[in-house]
This record gives sequence, C-alpha cells and structure tokens, in this order.
Amino acid sequence: MDIRNDFELKSLNTFGISARAEHFVQVHSLAQLSELLSDSRFKNTPKRILGGGSNILITQNIPGLVIHNQIKGIEVVDEDEESWTLKIGAGEVWHELVTTCVHNNFAGVENLSLIPGYVGAAPMQNIGAYGVELKEVFHSLEAMDLEDGVVHTFTKSDCEFGYRESVFKNRFKGQFIICSVSLKLTKSPDYNISYGAIEQELSNMGVQDLSIAHISQAVINIRRSKLPDPKEIGNAGSFFKNPIVTEAQFQAIKSNFPNVVSYPANGNIKLAAGWLIDQAGWKGHTEQSFGVHKKQALVLVNYGEAQGSNIKGLADEIKADINQKFGVDLEMEVNVW
Ligand code: FAD
Ligand code: NAP
Repeated sequence: MDIRNDFELKSLNTFGISARAEHFVQVHSLAQLSELLSDSRFKNTPKRILGGGSNILITQNIPGLVIHNQIKGIEVVDEDEESWTLKIGAGEVWHELVTTCVHNNFAGVENLSLIPGYVGAAPMQNIGAYGVELKEVFHSLEAMDLEDGVVHTFTKSDCEFGYRESVFKNRFKGQFIICSVSLKLTKSPDYNISYGAIEQELSNMGVQDLSIAHISQAVINIRRSKLPDPKEIGNAGSFFKNPIVTEAQFQAIKSNFPNVVSYPANGNIKLAAGWLIDQAGWKGHTEQSFGVHKKQALVLVNYGEAQGSNIKGLADEIKADINQKFGVDLEMEVNVW
C-alpha cells in the first residue's frame, strides 16, 4: 500500500478546497483494509473515510489518516421473478452504477441519476432526489469497524434511514467504513415522474413510450441545466437540509410569508431551504472568491481559492439570519471536516 504523507486533497473534494492530509492511502480490497487497520503505526491514529469528496467541506489540514475507498465491483448476487439483487463495491462511482442499471433495465435508481460521489457514501445520508431515496432500493451493506477490523452486515432497519440521515451520520459517526452496498432493483418499474420538472422535460424530449432510460435522461437534462458543475465552480450540492417544521410553526411562518414554499412531510411540513435563503436576500451573495450560487440559493460555491473556513463562516451567517427572520434552524447537510 502506498501511504503518502502531507498529501494535497484539493483535487479530491468538489468544493476544490486546498488542504493537506497528514497521511493518505487508497484501499482497493477488504484484505488491504484489514492489513491497514492492523498496522501498529496507525492503531491509535484518527481516521477519516473519503469517497468522491462531493459532500464534505474541509476547514483545516486533516490530522491522521485519510482512507480513500477504491473497492470496486458490481455483481448480481440474486435474482427472482420480481427483482435482481446487486452487490456493489463502495468505491464504484454512483452515477456509473445508475448507468449500468438503466442499461440493463434494473429499475429503481433512475431518479437518482447524476448524483456525484461513490456508492459507499450513498447510505451515509440516504441520498435522495426527485422523489426517490436510496432506502427504497436498499437491501443491506457491509461495513468494517475501524477499531477492530470486524466486518458487520447492516440491514435496512439497522441503518436507521431518515431524510438525508442514517445511523452512520449519528450514533455510529466515524466508527465504520462502508465496504459494499447491496441494492434490490425491480423488474417492474414504478415510474416516478410527478416530481419537479420531470414530466415537462419528458414532454420536451417528445417521449411516448416511457422507460427508465427516458426518466434517467430527463433527470440528467434538468440537473445539467440547473446545478453548477463542480468541475467549473467548486460546490458540494445543497449545503443545508430542507427543514421540517410542525404545522403550528408552519402557520406562524405562513402568516408573515404567505408564499413560503412547503410540502407535506409525514404529518409535519418540509420547507424549501433554498426559498428561505433566497427570500432573506442571500442568493448570488458574493465575498471575494466564494458565495451563494446565483441560480441556486441552497448551493454555496467556491469561485477560486476560498478556504473551507471562509465558506463555513458564510454558512454560519446564513444560518443565524434564517433563524432570526423565520425562527427556523437550518441544519448543514454537508459534512464539515
Ligand atoms: P464524500 O464527500 O467523500 O463523503 C461524505 C461523507 O461520507 C464523509 O463524512 C465521509 O467520511 C463519509 N463516507 C464516504 N464514504 C464512506 C464509506 N465508504 N464509509 C464510511 N463513510 C464514508 N446528494 C443527494 O442526496 N442528492 C442529490 O441530488 C445530490 N446532488 C448533488 C449535486 C452536486 C452538484 C453535488 C456536488 C453534490 C450533490 N449531492 C447530492 C451530495 C453528494 O453528492 C452525495 O451526498 C454523495 O452521496 C456523496 O458521496 P461522496 O462519495 O462524494 O462522499
Ligand atoms: P426543486 O425541484 O427546485 O425543489 C426545491 C425543493 O423543494 C427541493 O429541495 C425538494 O425537496 C422540494 N420539492 C420539490 N418538489 C417537491 C415535491 N413534489 N414533493 C416534495 N418536495 C418537493 O429542487 P432542486 O434544487 O432543483 O433539486 C431537485 C432534486 O434534486 C431535489 O430532490 C433535491 O433534493 C435534489 N438535489 C439534491 C442536492 C443535494 O446536494 N442534496 C443537490 C441538488 C439537487 P427535496 O430536496 O426533499 O427533494
């Protein structure tokens, strides 16, 4: 294994933040991972797991060891009349997996097209987009305990999935490295096109005989037209989660802001964080080389050489302002390192 010291992470995070890892290593197999974790040099070293770096904000040089997960492989491990079960290495690129599924007519992940990052990070926040969440196709995962190297299997209920949440962001934060993820994909697609602009885009595309390939392409088209490409402008997607408030809180906000954008959420109300930030006047706000994206108020951006601490400072200001104006507490979706 090639362990690097004082390693530059700029090209490995989509915010494009320059920061150095004290130690850095890529792992390609469970065997390599076991070897690494039993290496006496790193026994008591703090460890962080890196995938595609599309949901982190690095605010310091990272002490300890950064493990870049490169465990690959996509395998059909089970098939019955209704479904296929796929076991996927955590180091596979998520969108390449989606492309493979669409190509083979394995239905269920088409609405999750073009989400950046690796498969291993997908359960971390139960990735979701366009009305679909990972948990709907999730079967199980294997994760190694960073302390003792023991591999555990987690079922769907073990993962405690919630809205952009899982047990790995909470109770087991920093304790496991996810090594593989198994998904159950269906042979009879349940098309989900009611969300956002999908239906409109399908009509623009002139689609008659709907397929998962069409839905995937529609989602790709919409995302390309709306979201900043991290290759051009550093960002990590939505910086904050959409807040969930009670009906009473919602009514109080609505009485002052009748146009507030909201959706029902299991008896509560989900507010569009982007709308709140826009309404508070932050959309397009720019400071030196960082700011709030011009088209998407929920996306904080690095135009060049910003430091993570600059962007974290801006996020804290926005959070305080939203709290003061709407009485709503925004929670960061991005993981601050
Ligand atoms: P990283 O950023 O590398 O890691 C994220 C966190 O997970 C870190 O804390 C890391 O330590 C941990 N982690 C990563 N891999 C492992 C592992 N194998 N084991 C244990 N811990 C691990 N997200 C959505 O949910 N929906 C979207 O529609 C969406 N759109 C996006 C659009 C853009 C333009 C961008 C930049 C981001 C978007 N995101 C979206 C956020 C992000 O792409 C996802 O959260 C993605 O799953 C992160 O994957 P990653 O491999 O880049 O994770
Ligand atoms: P959008 O369509 O402009 O909608 C704004 C917000 O309203 C979204 O955050 C979405 O919540 C919510 N929403 C819209 N239609 C809804 C419906 N029918 N039912 C319930 N909630 C609805 O959003 P966008 O920014 O272009 O993003 C489109 C999708 O991609 C969203 O699902 C979004 O989560 C996802 N996305 C995520 C990230 C990320 O980094 N996490 C980045 C870009 C896009 P939800 O977010 O709960 O879906």
